[in-house]
Parts: sequence; structure tokens; C-alpha cells
Amino acid sequence: MNVELITIGTELLLGFTVDTNAAELGQQLAAAGLRIPRRTSIPDTPDAIRDGVSEAIHRTGAVITTGGLGPTRDDMTKGVIAELFGRPIVFQEDLWQRLLERYRRVGRTPVESNRTQAEIPDGATVLPNQWGSAPGIWLEGQLQDGTSGLVIMLPGVPVEMKNLLQVEVLPRLASRGSGRIIRSRTLRTTGVSESVVAERLGEVDREISPLTLAYLPNVSGVDLRLTAWDAAPGEVDQLLEQGAAQVRGRSADSIYGEGEDDLAALVLACARERGIRLSVAESCTGGLVGARLTEIPGSSDVFEGGVVCYSYESKTTLLDVPADMIVEHGAVSEPVARAMATGALTRLGGDLSVAVTGIAGPGGATPDKPVGTVWFATALGGDVQASRNLFMGSRYEVRARAAQRALFLLWKRLLDLPRT
Ligand code: AMP
Ligand code: MG
Repeated sequence: MNVELITIGTELLLGFTVDTNAAELGQQLAAAGLRIPRRTSIPDTPDAIRDGVSEAIHRTGAVITTGGLGPTRDDMTKGVIAELFGRPIVFQEDLWQRLLERYRRVGRTPVESNRTQAEIPDGATVLPNQWGSAPGIWLEGQLQDGTSGLVIMLPGVPVEMKNLLQVEVLPRLASRGSGRIIRSRTLRTTGVSESVVAERLGEVDREISPLTLAYLPNVSGVDLRLTAWDAAPGEVDQLLEQGAAQVRGRSADSIYGEGEDDLAALVLACARERGIRLSVAESCTGGLVGARLTEIPGSSDVFEGGVVCYSYESKTTLLDVPADMIVEHGAVSEPVARAMATGALTRLGGDLSVAVTGIAGPGGATPDKPVGTVWFATALGGDVQASRNLFMGSRYEVRARAAQRALFLLWKRLLDLPRT
């Protein structure tokens, strides 16, 4: 079954509100096997709502709307759609009583305009909203011009929309669907660019058919999302498993996880399994690596701590980087990165450290060290390894990519060690 999506609200078009309802509906409907052939955002005006809903019904036959069900003057979804179907609006006393009860429970007195929330297009089904005051509305029938269609109106408040979708809408839609579903599985890579990943994967697109593969680059790496379209629920997991194995077969060394996996959590888990304690020394990332690690609950059992050493002096006083080394090679250099990593182990303790020193930009570049140049070093006891990267993007992106790279380097070194 196909259903279009219309998110209603002038604030969405002005960019003040991010359309999270569209994202939520996209995921939930796909998982339930419903295809969204088109989605639209429109302002709170009668013309836009009338045209948007009418066009969607003529094209697709079914539409879900969100927003504009509240009691204020800019909430006009219900009235405009009722008119499109030629249905009068009727006041439902039982719905009003339930609303009054709800107001009593939260200790509020309704105002006159709240009565509109008990008004429903004649013949529509009320989708009770236990999470807020505006109920959802399921309206099915013929438009004034004779076209048959279904409109499901949901409130704009994201938590109410989500709950109504789960409890009232998806069960009703499931009974009309084909039973076939759309499901995705995401493999997360880091350390290689989108084009390099694509080159490694080569012809995999064809091999994994009917699955499709999407490349989704972001600051933490390139996510590879496999999608099974129109699959039988019984076969979809195996299909995705086979596809994932084919992708892993070609790009295994850059894949660190799946779905929402966070590299910092994997680093901590690997360190824990190997009885290794970690410390970090950060210049251009200013604490981002330490923040990523400590965001994960339970990090204290493997993370010693970190030093943010931004000035020359702090690199010397906090991490024992020789002052003349910094003068000779510059703060962004291999010897300084190595000395920082060693200094972190000496000063903070731990078995494995990572150091980051680079030029996040926009200023600070020199002819041989462009913006985005970052030196890294990892020290496992006395065994120090250094590497250099050149990151693209804004200051934010360079710093975020450098932090992810630092975690990647820790992870790689941990993988080389035996579990205890
Ligand atoms: P409404 O039901 O139109 O009165 O919207 C109520 C609240 O939900 C407002 O604060 C909106 O900004 C928010 N909202 C409406 N539509 C969306 C949407 N598509 N995504 C996220 N938030 C929304
Ligand atoms: Mg609104």
C-alpha cells in the first residue's frame, strides 16, 4: 500500500522546526511495509492544505497529515479536509467529556477554543490521544468530486504523533497491507573516504540485488545502508545477512559496527576485554576524544583521563614535550605527537594512549601544513606509532573527524592485542 505524507506547519517551511515527524513516519511506515511515494511540507493556510491533500488523494489514494489539529486559529487541518470530503463538522459530546476529564486531571480549566478539539468531520473515526488533547482523525470516503480516498490526520507534537501512529494507525493499516515489508541494515565504516569505499565495494551492488546499497557519508565515516524492499517478513533477515556478509567480505577492515554503534563504545569494550587502560592527549580536538569516551556509561573502568594541551607551554609542562622540539618541528608534527602520546602514559598512567595535534582552521595554516593537517600518535608502552591525516571541511568537521580517527587508531591497536 502507498501513502503520501504531508507535514503541515508554517514553522517547518521557515526552518524554525525541524520536520522530525517526517523522519519518524518514514522509518515506521517503511518498517510496516508501506511505501511513501512522496512527501510534502506545507504552511498553515487553507489553500495549501486543500490543494496538498486533494492532489495526494488523486495521485495515491491515501495520505497521512501531521499538524494543525490544535485549538488555535492557525490550526485548520480538520476543517479544510472535512470540506474537501463534503462532510459537516460535528461536535462530539462524549469526546468533549473525555477532554474535560483530562483537563481536570492535570488541574487546568479549558477555554472556549478547546471545544474545537471535540469537533470531528461527520462519519470520521476518532483516534483517541492519551498523550495530549488533540485526537487523531481517520477519514475515509469520497471527495466532493467523487474520488475515493483516505486521510489520517495526526497531531504535530512529535511524541503524540509517534504514540498515535504506533497504537492507532499502524495496526489499522497493517490489516490492509500486502504483508511485505521494507527493512534496512546499516554497516558503519570509518577511516576511508566515500570514493575509496565505493571502489572497494566495486560490483557489489549487482551481487546483492534485490537489496540496494546507499553510501551515507558523515563526520564519523561512511555508513553503508542495505535495504530490502517489498520483502516477506520471513526472508528479510536472511537476505540482509547475506548482503551484509558480501559487503563485509570486501571492506571488512574499515567496518567497525552496525546501526547506531558508537566507535567510542567499541574502543572501551575492546580495552575492557584486553585489560588495557586508556589515556588521551589532545590539542586541536580540545577534549572531544575524552568527551566521546566518557559519554559512554561505565567508561571509568578503562579510561584514566585526558589532557587538553593547547599552548606550547602546556604541552611541555603537562606532558613533558621538550620545548626545543616544538620550536624545531612545530606543534603540529610527528615528533610532538609521539612525545604527547608518551607523555600521556607517563603523566596519566594507562597502557595505551592516543595523541592528537593539528590545524582545525580556518587560520593557522602554513605552506607545508594546510588546514586539516592532523598528526596522531598511539603509544602502547614504549611502542609508539604515528600517522598523519589531511581532513576536509569546516573547523567543526576537522575536529570531529580527528576525534573519530583517534578512536579508530586506538581501536586498531586494541584489535592487535589478545583478549585476556
Ligand atoms: P500543531 O499540532 O501544528 O499545533 O503543532 C504542535 C507542535 O508540534 C509545534 O510546536 C510544532 O512546532 C510541532 N510540530 C508540528 N509539526 C511538526 C513536525 N512535522 N516535526 C516536528 N515537530 C512538529
Ligand atoms: Mg501548527
